[in-house]
Amino acid sequence: TVAVVLFTSDLRLHDHPPMHAALKAADEVVPLFVLDPGIRTAHFDAPNRRAFLADCLNDLDASLRSRGGRLVVRAGPVAREVRTVAAECGAGEVHMAAGVTAYARHREERLRKELDDSDVALRVHEAVITALAPGAVTPSGSDHFAVFTPYFRRWSQVSLRQPLRAPRTVRVPDGVRGEPLPERAGVSGTSPGLPAGGETAGRDRFSRWSRSGLSRYEDRHDDLAGDATSRLSPYLHFGVLSPAELVHRSRERGGPGAEAFVRQVCWRDFHHQVMAARPSASGKDYRTRHDRWRGEDEAAEDIAAWREGRTGYPVVDAAMRQLRHEGWMHNRARLLVASFLTKTLYVDWRIGARHFLDLLVDGDIVNNQLNWQWVAGTGTDTRPHRVLNPLVQARRFDPDGAYVRRWVPELAGVDGRKVHEPWRLPAEERDALDYPEPVIDLADGLARFKHARGRD
Ligand code: FAD
Repeated sequence: TVAVVLFTSDLRLHDHPPMHAALKAADEVVPLFVLDPGIRTAHFDAPNRRAFLADCLNDLDASLRSRGGRLVVRAGPVAREVRTVAAECGAGEVHMAAGVTAYARHREERLRKELDDSDVALRVHEAVITALAPGAVTPSGSDHFAVFTPYFRRWSQVSLRQPLRAPRTVRVPDGVRGEPLPERAGVSGTSPGLPAGGETAGRDRFSRWSRSGLSRYEDRHDDLAGDATSRLSPYLHFGVLSPAELVHRSRERGGPGAEAFVRQVCWRDFHHQVMAARPSASGKDYRTRHDRWRGEDEAAEDIAAWREGRTGYPVVDAAMRQLRHEGWMHNRARLLVASFLTKTLYVDWRIGARHFLDLLVDGDIVNNQLNWQWVAGTGTDTRPHRVLNPLVQARRFDPDGAYVRRWVPELAGVDGRKVHEPWRLPAEERDALDYPEPVIDLADGLARFKHARGRD
């Protein structure tokens, strides 16, 4: 007997319920990945993610080969390709992970329809992409939690399934056609500091980081210059790491650092259960609607300055340049640049979210859109009117200015915290810097915000 395992956002062999079930049910499996043109038309294949995906697919193929198998890559509409492959190899079952986004659900529906009149059964596995399946815990009277803290409380009480071992051998039937694997080198326009993708790189990073960084995570995770977070987000985004396994392994180590880290992984699950219940939140305001945002036409110059990292607020500019250079940004930096765009400049959160999706290697419809909404005050934040002042944030989370000097070379010669307010430097020193004046006075931004929110 033969089974197909369709990989989507779960490009790993460790703790992989679909592969585990397929190997139990069948003698041979076809590990399949489909490059669906729908991803391109949905503008979701940004260069950084395309390059990282190529690494993930090559690594998965290498891991399968070391176990006697290989990865089959096909190109075309996913439902059609799965049906064709299943027919070619005489498969009786297709195993895959359950998805959350509208795109993933639509894909599942199309697959169901395509396989409906065949003898091939579709088996969809929960809790592969998240640690806990969306909907596994719900508050009374609703299909999802709209506030993080009560969700975290309930989530923490559930015992997650034990992580599954990677298979020892994988036998793939002969004669299944495949496309050549995409290559990272073939992708242009990537960020120079993009990390290497793949399950091997992700597992190495977690092992190293959990030995040195995890115990210090609680104290240091907000330190912009210290860069003390795990940087595991791209590996979680492509599912080369299992969130359930990360939670187990962190809890085994224990301590306040591990607890704080597990809490962040739970934020990811939280957003997934919100999106599963309200897929329209990828583009529409989740809770509170605001329609006075400034758009591309009204705020073209401010938006361009924000995107290019020349707003005149050094900490904002440092963060936006880190994003472009690495395809990644520190969480604290994401919070403050998103607040700056949506609340200080009063620009529609969707414009910021789009720019992030164009560059982030971890760029993710679920986490990106819902975090943007959280900051913009249209989402799940219980204090939607809070505004992060970039100067207060800079003094607190980059007290010596090292983060700014790292990313804004024009200011590299300005010592200490003075770097956060170049406009206060003596005129001669200020004039010598090739650095812009602030695009907005913070007090004016705050007044506009209060005025608009008062009327919305
Ligand atoms: P760590 O601090 O080491 O956290 C461990 C893991 O927990 C992360 O890898 C991530 O998977 C998860 N996590 C942490 N914080 C959050 C959070 N607030 N929401 C959801 N999951 C979280 N994360 C993405 O994965 N993709 C995105 O597209 C994305 N866009 C964001 C946009 C904005 C405006 C904001 C404020 C946050 C966004 N985040 C996004 C969440 C967070 O900033 C990143 O997950 C985190 O910075 C990744 O770095 P890390 O792996 O070192 O995190």
